[in-house]
Amino acid sequence: MSPLEQTDPQVFRIIADEMERQERRLELIASENFASRAVMEAQGSVLTNKYAEGYPGRRYYGGCVHMDVVENLARLRAQQLFGADHVNVQPHSGTQANMAVYFSVMKPGDTYLGMDLRHGGHLSMGHPKNFSGMIYHVVPYSVRSEDHRIDYDQVRDLARKHRPRMIIAGASAYPRIIHYDIFADIAREVDAILMTDVAHIAGLIVADRHPSPVPHADFVTTTTHKTLRGPRGGMVLCRGEYGPALDSCIFPGMQGGPLMHVIAAKAVALAEAATPEFRSYQDQVVRNAKALANALLEEGFTLVSGGTDNHLILVDLTDKGITGMEAQETLERACITVNKNSIPFDPLPPTKASGIRIGTPAVTTRSMGEDEMRLIGSFMSKVLTNPTDERIISAVGKDVTDLCSRFPLYVQH
Ligand SMILES: *Cc1c(COP(=O)(O)O)cnc(C)c1O
Repeated sequence: MSPLEQTDPQVFRIIADEMERQERRLELIASENFASRAVMEAQGSVLTNKYAEGYPGRRYYGGCVHMDVVENLARLRAQQLFGADHVNVQPHSGTQANMAVYFSVMKPGDTYLGMDLRHGGHLSMGHPKNFSGMIYHVVPYSVRSEDHRIDYDQVRDLARKHRPRMIIAGASAYPRIIHYDIFADIAREVDAILMTDVAHIAGLIVADRHPSPVPHADFVTTTTHKTLRGPRGGMVLCRGEYGPALDSCIFPGMQGGPLMHVIAAKAVALAEAATPEFRSYQDQVVRNAKALANALLEEGFTLVSGGTDNHLILVDLTDKGITGMEAQETLERACITVNKNSIPFDPLPPTKASGIRIGTPAVTTRSMGEDEMRLIGSFMSKVLTNPTDERIISAVGKDVTDLCSRFPLYVQH
C-alpha cells in the first residue's frame, strides 16, 4: 500500500480514477499534454518543502544552496533553448507571467492592444472580469473575415490611433503562423513595447516549427505545460534591460515563495525540450494536426481559416446544426475530450459557442500518428452527424477505448 493510499484512500482513489480517464480517453484539448515521469518525479519531490523567497544568491531564507543551483539551471536552460537575454522561471502560471509583464511596463489606465477574445485571444488579454480588463484600457484587434488571418492592417491603424503603451501578439485559439516581424514593425513605429505570449506554441518554437518571437519582442511569456510538455506553470523571457524590473514585479511584487519543486520540473522539461526526440515529437504534432484537419475537411467539416499551420484546429459547426457546447458534450459520451470555442464573428455567446477547438499535442505524446488522426476524424464525424444516436455514440466510444489501449500512456513505463 502506498503512503497516500494508507493516509487518504479517498484522494488516492480520485488520482487512480483520473489516471484511468487519461489512459482510456482521447485527449484533444489543444492546451493539454502529458508530462513525462521524470518531470512528475521532480514535481513530486522534497523541494516542495523549501521556502526560497528572492532569487539565486539573494534569498530571504537560509538553506537555499540547492535551490539556487536548480533555479539557475532552469534559467540557463531556458536562456539557451530560446536564445533569450533574461529569464524568470518563477511565475506560478501563464496568467501570472502576463501579469508580471503588464505590471513592469504599464500603469493603471494605460492602453494596450491585444487579440480580441472572441477571435482567439486569451482571458488575460482584456476579459472584463480579469485584471487585464479591469486595470487597463484594452483595444482589441481581430482576424479578417475573408481568411481568418490576423488583420495586420487593422493592428497598424489601431496602433496609430491609440498610441498604446504595449502591443501583445499571442493567442489561445489561432491555427495559423503569427508574424512577429510585422508586429515588431508596428510597435517600433508607434514606440510601443512588444510582448508576445507563446503559451500554446512554445514547444513548436524551440523545435523550429514556428518562427521565434525572441529576436523581435521585448518580452516573451509562456506556460510550461502546453506544447512545452513540462509541469503546470509560467515563465517570462525578456531583453536584458527589462530584467531587474520584471524580477521585482514577480517577487516581491506579485508572489511570495517560488514553487521550487515546479521550478525543478521546469528545468527537467527544458532539458527534454533540447533533445532530438523533442524535435521529432513537435514535427509529428504539426503533421498530425494537418492530417486531422484534412480528415475533417474530407468528412465535410468547415475549419476556421480553412486548415492549420500549427498544433490546433478550430472547427466551425454552424453548418452542422449543433453548437460547440452540444458537440463537446456529445463527444464526451464517445470518450473524446474537446472544448467548445467561439469562432471569429460568432453569433452565439461563449457559453454555447459555434465551434470546438482541437489539438494534437497530447495524442502525439502517446505516439499516435497520421493513420490514427484519420481514424479520429472519422470517429468525430460519426458522432457529430448523429448526435442523438446512442447506439452509434457508444460504438464509437468502444472504438476510442480500443485505440487508446493500443497507445498506453503511463502504465507501461
Ligand atoms: C493558456 C494560456 C495562458 C495562461 O495560462 P494559465 O497557466 O492557465 O494561466 C496565457 N496566454 C495564452 C495565450 C494561453 O493560451
